[in-house]
Amino acid sequence: MGLSPNLLTRRAAGVATTTFALMLSTAAVGVVPAASAFSAAPAGSCAEPADVHSDARVAKGGSTKLDPNNLTAKQVSEREADLAAALRERAAFRGGAQAAAPLATVTVPVVVHVIQRDSTRAGGNIPDSLITSQITVLNQAYSGATGGAPTAFSFQLAKINRVTNPAWYPIVQGSSAERQMKTSLREGGKNTLNVYLGELSDNLLGWATFPKRKLDSMDGVVVLNESLPGGTATNYNEGDTGTHEIGHWLNLYHTFQGGCAGSGDSVDDTPAEASPAYQCPTGRDTCSAAGLDPITNFMDYTYDSCMHQFTAGQASRMITAWNAYRAA
Ligand SMILES: [Zn+2]
Repeated sequence: MGLSPNLLTRRAAGVATTTFALMLSTAAVGVVPAASAFSAAPAGSCAEPADVHSDARVAKGGSTKLDPNNLTAKQVSEREADLAAALRERAAFRGGAQAAAPLATVTVPVVVHVIQRDSTRAGGNIPDSLITSQITVLNQAYSGATGGAPTAFSFQLAKINRVTNPAWYPIVQGSSAERQMKTSLREGGKNTLNVYLGELSDNLLGWATFPKRKLDSMDGVVVLNESLPGGTATNYNEGDTGTHEIGHWLNLYHTFQGGCAGSGDSVDDTPAEASPAYQCPTGRDTCSAAGLDPITNFMDYTYDSCMHQFTAGQASRMITAWNAYRAA
């Protein structure tokens, strides 16, 4: 994760960055090495998301058309209507005193599935230490410790489940193998975050499902294994792919959703942005509406070193969605 300038000391708390300084200065810009063996599919080959309830993060060089979390205006309006309906349903339920009061804080149990081709690091066998560092990064990001608004959420590692299955490696977005993997492995209720780590198809850094009223086995986030803090995915190895994907899992859109028009990402305090920002384009301003592009927001596409915050509006949207969709 990036940090606001006055919080530099916190950066060392969960992420060992010094070891990777040399790699950062010599590796090609904007390419995720671990996924570079998989070229992006031709434009138009994935014109419609396979599942409108999921979302992804793409490195520069990847195709945003492959990102199932970039929604059409119609899909956004359907999701917003569903959220309103879910909230009305919950309120009516509470009116009858059958449900608990809305939660103000949430500790999310996290089940991590490490998908491996074999026992080598290249085959997906990443150490437990990267996973525990990822949990630390999540807790820093979602508490506001990196410079953003505090959110209601903290994360607790419940289990690491290692699975060797070459048929699931790499994890191919939208494939029957992905469905089979999740159907076999997913654990817990609506409140349990299932994270699937592996090498990924199509240069993707990760993808996630948005919350739904009825839990299904696809629910969870998929994250490039080497994007974890201390991994080898140059410029994307501080753990913010995990932070970003979990933002989707908690109902956040990209900051560039909807471009300059309309309600954008349905959050009031994230300035409108015409398109994804990559790397760290300080001062970028793509819409005539007030405010510079939110390039430091976790829900953009910039480098991990560039992004360090959620806004108060995003924090509010996440806890509202939790109470609508994921609370008991
Ligand atoms: Zn995304």
